[in-house]
Amino acid sequence: MDEELAAELALLKEFGFTHLDVKAGRGAQRAPDDQAALLAEMGAVARACEKCRLAKTRTNVVYGVGNPNADLMFIGEAPGRDEDLKGEPFVGRAGQLLTDIIKAMKLTRDDVYIANVIKCRPPENRNPEPDELEECRPFIRRQIEIIQPKVIVTLGKFALQSLMERSYAITAARGQWLEFNGVKVMPTYHPAYLLRNPATKKDVWNDMKKVMAALSAETSAP
Ligand code: URA
Repeated sequence: MDEELAAELALLKEFGFTHLDVKAGRGAQRAPDDQAALLAEMGAVARACEKCRLAKTRTNVVYGVGNPNADLMFIGEAPGRDEDLKGEPFVGRAGQLLTDIIKAMKLTRDDVYIANVIKCRPPENRNPEPDELEECRPFIRRQIEIIQPKVIVTLGKFALQSLMERSYAITAARGQWLEFNGVKVMPTYHPAYLLRNPATKKDVWNDMKKVMAALSAETSAP
């Protein structure tokens, strides 16, 4: 077993898992019901999590929403006030813009899966601390493993850096394909940045065109 997998299994055990679904290996085919059940199981673990200081100030754990069998997954940074109150990612102003982007791609929020690298709101929307990102990482990794999307879009620098576990300049990284455990990753700007800098919307749209082309190539492949 590789070291990374062993570390992840140890963390899951710490989070209270007593068994793992053996069909959960990369590339394995799962029925959508299995995926929904596995996500629900991990969601319940997340809702009970007290591994970092954010547990003390959160209203709700914001685990993730959408299609458990999605081809496309959007990953943001952390819940804000609206998300903390509702327990759902991207429901505030930035969320409305993300919903518009998804619609422009001729999809709905129910077609895709939306989650954050941090599941609890940092007070006053401050940046997540390195140890908070570290403690929360098993959740997003497991969500990706369960959903097995064809494409991941990371929104902003924190989502990209936390997923890939290395630092990036977002202006240079955006629009360039990366890979995470065999899944294509398209880094783009965070919708909150677009609200502050509307001129950059065209860059995000160019990135989403690449995503749509990759998805249609995947689905039309024999
Ligand atoms: N910003 C994020 O990164 N995630 C949310 O859920 C909302 C705003």
